Amino acid sequence: MNDNIIERNEKLAKKIIKCLESRNITGYYAPNAEQAKKLALSLIPKGSKVTNGGVMSAHEIGLISALQEGDYDYVDRDTAEDKQAAALAAYTADFFLTSANAITEDGIIINIDGNSNRISAIAFGPKKVIFIVGMNKVARDEAAAMSRARNVAAPINAQRFGLNTPCAKTGSCADCLSPDTICCNFMTTRYSRHADRMHVILVGESLGF
Ligand code: SF4
Repeated sequence: MNDNIIERNEKLAKKIIKCLESRNITGYYAPNAEQAKKLALSLIPKGSKVTNGGVMSAHEIGLISALQEGDYDYVDRDTAEDKQAAALAAYTADFFLTSANAITEDGIIINIDGNSNRISAIAFGPKKVIFIVGMNKVARDEAAAMSRARNVAAPINAQRFGLNTPCAKTGSCADCLSPDTICCNFMTTRYSRHADRMHVILVGESLGF
């Protein structure tokens, strides 16, 4: 990554973190994956019950394997036999790890969801929510963020899960009502009622999609 991009990311992250503060959400910037992992682990005390929803970015920075190997009560929905029980465990967890489909330059977080366990746990339940968000997910405003969610994140996810949706075939959203749609619910997170509940770690790398 060249110096101009590094400088631009730092400057933009500072602006977003300030906007997040005004939304009662704590923001951080880690220039790379390794520092993002260290930062996330510094927020999660040993012994904590940790669950997840949509954690490709957390996998990519090595956070999930650190939790699996460390002294944590990590509930892994991906490998759980009872997926419903693992999803419900989020509501009583100490920490819920997730990401965003997009974040605006003024700190609004956009997520779309099919099953909707992810967005429901972001909204309510776990004591704390940590978002791991690569700077590739920053969008100028809410319209651009929603467009990113529908035309970048959703098509890749639909292809990844082998879903029969228009975006999986064309790479762009057709506002479908397909039985396979992953756009059942859209969540706009614009403020946290509870101080110190939501934490966003912006990472100066491209993570997830
Ligand atoms: S509404 Fe349908 S076509 Fe559009 S992004 Fe969602 S699943 Fe894809």
